[in-house]
Amino acid sequence: MAAACVLPPDAPGAGFEEMTRELSDRILPHGSGNTHPRFFGWVQGSGLPTGLLAEMVAATMNSSCGGRDHGAIHVERAVIRWCAEVLGMPASTSGILVTGTSQATVIALAVARQKALGPEIRAEGIQRRPRLTAYAAEGSHHCLSRALELLGIGSEALRLIPRKGNAGMDMTALAERVAADRAAGKQPFCVIGTAGSVELGIFDDFQAIADFCRRQQLWFHVDGAFGAWVKLAAEPWSSLTHGMEQADSISLDMHKWLFVQYDCGLALIRDAALHRATFATRPSYLASQEQGTLGGGEPWFCDYGIDLSRSFRALKVWATIRAYGRQRLGAAITANLQQTAEMGRLIERSEILELMAPVVSNLCCFSVRAAGLNTAALSQLNRILAGRLQVSGEAVISTCQINGREVLRAAITNHRTRLEDIAFTVEALERAARHLLGARDAETTPGKFLTPA
Ligand SMILES: *Cc1c(COP(=O)(O)O)cnc(C)c1O
Repeated sequence: MAAACVLPPDAPGAGFEEMTRELSDRILPHGSGNTHPRFFGWVQGSGLPTGLLAEMVAATMNSSCGGRDHGAIHVERAVIRWCAEVLGMPASTSGILVTGTSQATVIALAVARQKALGPEIRAEGIQRRPRLTAYAAEGSHHCLSRALELLGIGSEALRLIPRKGNAGMDMTALAERVAADRAAGKQPFCVIGTAGSVELGIFDDFQAIADFCRRQQLWFHVDGAFGAWVKLAAEPWSSLTHGMEQADSISLDMHKWLFVQYDCGLALIRDAALHRATFATRPSYLASQEQGTLGGGEPWFCDYGIDLSRSFRALKVWATIRAYGRQRLGAAITANLQQTAEMGRLIERSEILELMAPVVSNLCCFSVRAAGLNTAALSQLNRILAGRLQVSGEAVISTCQINGREVLRAAITNHRTRLEDIAFTVEALERAARHLLGARDAETTPGKFLTPA
């Protein structure tokens, strides 16, 4: 593949027709597989036909979405409004579509920083200010520390609070850490709750965090990359998000569990005026013109984030919401939750695999079970097993570390997955594990993963 797409610097243009042929023959077949029903690696979205069509329309319109008064802006506003409302935030919540949760987190924490230190920091920076500290549960996503690095606060300012077993952040430990930091002259400014931790899919107790933040006058941010969408699922799962709607800000992704094509994330900020005050800068050549002209249409998205030139990301989300609606999207999310629970049950019954933690939402972590093998040997087996399955094409599972052991991890955010795919995957894993352990296994199954369904 690497050779097939090389662009020699001096080669003449191959022409539109030849390029088209290469698109279909050389590029299209070489995806990573996340459009397949048995792709459970990392946390990746599956992509929808609505996105395919919308991307063609968006490319045709070629809208520049920093601001002004044209169709794309209204579509983006409609998408943000819908997201705020289905997630339980007020209709006045502001937001901006960005590349993903990593960037949305920078935006949200920049607003939180401005709230803590005042508008002067835009000009003066944060030197000579009190040292800010932020709080999140152990196992929270590394985009949090990166956002703090970029904002000049530094990753050491992120205090990792232990979890209560497989439940959310330990609120007593949080209160103690905040008090200790205050006593040491620091300025706590933000508590970050996670909706769906990357390893185990755990949800923090948002109601408890919201109450704590209100009492302590701290910003309450939610990393809801994939898990915020559990709000659309059936019970008992939907209740995992209870209290999330009280957040000051939420960052989340459309490209994971809303199944929309890459890339699209969203920062939602409850205080729209503060959001604007954190970013608005407008040189004279961008001054707003009269409403009703192309240069009107305030407010402009360039005043709510980092980018001036922005793509029409909103259209693929709009098309998806318009075509399927909250109910069908929620049903697809519920189905994934049921499938993950089923995978957990099958693994619990397995003689050769063991569950490493209870299944809370859409993540299932497990390991090869083998008496007499130490952690290092089991880690190695799990790693090899993940690779074997990926290469055989039967399913894609990735790995992560739990209690010092590298374990297998299935993340199910895939609207094409069916219950049969779960059973097939667990059987394939058992077969490969037996094979690896040298047990006799007469049965062989040809790799089915890469043959079109
Ligand atoms: C994926 C993920 C992120 C980062 O989101 P990107 O869209 O990849 O930037 C942050 N937090 C959690 C919990 C995630 O799963």
